[in-house]
Amino acid sequence: MHENPLTTENKKRLPSPQGVALAIMQACQREDVSIAEVSRLVQTDPALAGRLLQLANGASMGGRPTASVQGAVGRLGLQSVRQLALSFSLIDQYGQGRCAGFDYPGFWSHSLLMAVATRELSARLRLGSADELFSCGLLARIGCLGLATAYPEDYAQLLSQDFKGAALLQQEQRVLLTDHIQLSGELHALWGLPTVLSESMRFHEQPGVAAFAQGSRPWQLAQVLHLAWRMADFFIQTQHDQSDRITELKLLAGTLGMAETEFSQCADTVIQQWKHWGAVLNVRVTDEELFSTMAQAQVRPDQEPNPGWLKVLIVEDDAIVRRLLEKWLRDECHYTVLTANDGHAALRAALVFQPHVVMTDWQMPVMDGLELCRSLRASDWGRNIYVLMLTSADSENDLVRAFEGGVDDYLTKPVNMRALSARLKAAWRFVRLRDAWERDHERLTGAAEELALINRRLQHAALSDPLTELANRRAGLNALSQAWSASTRHGHGLSVIAIDVDYFKAINDIHGHTCGDVVLQRLSQNLRTTARNEDTVCRWGGEEFMVICPNMTQDEGLNAAERLRANIADLRIAVDGKLIEVTISLGLASWNRSLSTQDQLLAEADKALYAAKQGGRNRVAVSQSSAFAD
Ligand code: GH3
Ligand code: MG
Ligand code: MG
Ligand code: MG
Repeated sequence: MHENPLTTENKKRLPSPQGVALAIMQACQREDVSIAEVSRLVQTDPALAGRLLQLANGASMGGRPTASVQGAVGRLGLQSVRQLALSFSLIDQYGQGRCAGFDYPGFWSHSLLMAVATRELSARLRLGSADELFSCGLLARIGCLGLATAYPEDYAQLLSQDFKGAALLQQEQRVLLTDHIQLSGELHALWGLPTVLSESMRFHEQPGVAAFAQGSRPWQLAQVLHLAWRMADFFIQTQHDQSDRITELKLLAGTLGMAETEFSQCADTVIQQWKHWGAVLNVRVTDEELFSTMAQAQVRPDQEPNPGWLKVLIVEDDAIVRRLLEKWLRDECHYTVLTANDGHAALRAALVFQPHVVMTDWQMPVMDGLELCRSLRASDWGRNIYVLMLTSADSENDLVRAFEGGVDDYLTKPVNMRALSARLKAAWRFVRLRDAWERDHERLTGAAEELALINRRLQHAALSDPLTELANRRAGLNALSQAWSASTRHGHGLSVIAIDVDYFKAINDIHGHTCGDVVLQRLSQNLRTTARNEDTVCRWGGEEFMVICPNMTQDEGLNAAERLRANIADLRIAVDGKLIEVTISLGLASWNRSLSTQDQLLAEADKALYAAKQGGRNRVAVSQSSAFAD
């Protein structure tokens, strides 16, 4: 048995950077650090200088090559330089070690492949600083090295038993009271890696269980790291069932919106880069075939079919919407389309037509969309049809039910045609890969199902609003419940601020709905940055927001609300060459003993908001209930 690894003596035994890398990390911690100062430090280590120059001049950066260290440091950015110096220092120092069961060169080989894959994928997906993400790939699994370094004997013993996945984590916890994921996180924190990055790294083995909103940056990063991890396993632990694993990688790439050919090219670049960096960093690499070669050898039932191949059944009771959708999918997307106006008709049609995708409205007379989906799932022939549900925005809370009923994806009404096309392309890719998978292997277990499951879990977990990236109403209600019980139990302060944008209809009318969306996004960012970190700023619906402020009294709440108001009033939002000004009205209500439920608190905030509107807008009003309490 051991104590927690980060207490006392053990800390000294964990991997840590030395020399120049350590000096760089310390320098970068200071606010007044300059590029010139870091460059001077880098120059004292010629190997490091050379490696950074190579990275700075790498393909993903573009532009003219730089020959000076200062130029390289400037181009990479201090945050990246700091993490790269750390990574390179660890590779140099921990090429070997005392843990007999741990393959040190193999670990670095694998981590390096993850690093180049993360860099390459995120460059293509434009996920931001590719070189910073290079070190994320490299350090995502550093806890494995940490365990080998801190507990050489026990860990060797544990590794000899060949546990995998969740079982390995469990055994690590049982024997060492920590595991490689947890320890990775602790090392990341110790080295000051940004939390946004370490959060995504934490979920690279199981991105499906993270509560990131689908499509958000942390979500994408966790997916990218996951794919990079699977790629590293694929190339390093070559096995017989290559064909299955190629399909798995393609499916994962598909989740990130990468088409097969694009991914194939990307994987080839990864292998080339891996070999290149292996030589630069003295890390072992094997002589792998290119991915495209392996993928071509994989049995492929058919090449790119024409769009007419995809059969879509539209189920919608509203004749106008139905015709609109039908026309778009047939004339613009060139799919084969059939329509039905209720669930029963749809079931009959589906049996004959055998569609790949059923796109169904939820509310319909006779048999609604959810019942239709359940019936399909219960049948042998309908089990695998891709179901896309159309919902109205306010039925968001029902989505969990929908996914439990077997829906694969959803779209809110009124349907945005471009979003619809994108969703159907994803469905098409999914269906095709799944078809290939089924025909090749006659089985549905494995990657495709896992992917669908992961997607469903992600949808469940989605607590954020896709337009503004703020917390959504559900997340806001969760935050309120927590704060509410802290208040009722311990008498902690709690304020909520209801916000509604003034004359927002006019903004849409004058500048267009798309412009309106941009205004909502910028305004949301502004609210988020003005509020405290512990406040939950959520989009309550449309152009209404709610800020939940735990531990905040009414007086403090008034200041906070006034600050939110003033910052928005000062905001000038540039869209299409125009500068748009916007104001908000705010209603503040604070917790007091006269309120017995959290709904009453929300209602008070709403009442105050109404008073702010009546009072002329662009102002804060305070709930009267608070005035008489405590
Ligand atoms: P006021 O609140 O000051 O009384 O006036 P208002 O014009 O803002 O009135 P109201 O709150 O009733 O109107 C809200 C408008 O916001 C109506 C709706 O079209 C628009 N809206 C709601 N959600 C969105 C959205 O996601 N994007 C865009 N562009 N507009 C939205
Ligand atoms: Mg309907
Ligand atoms: Mg409104
Ligand atoms: Mg409004």
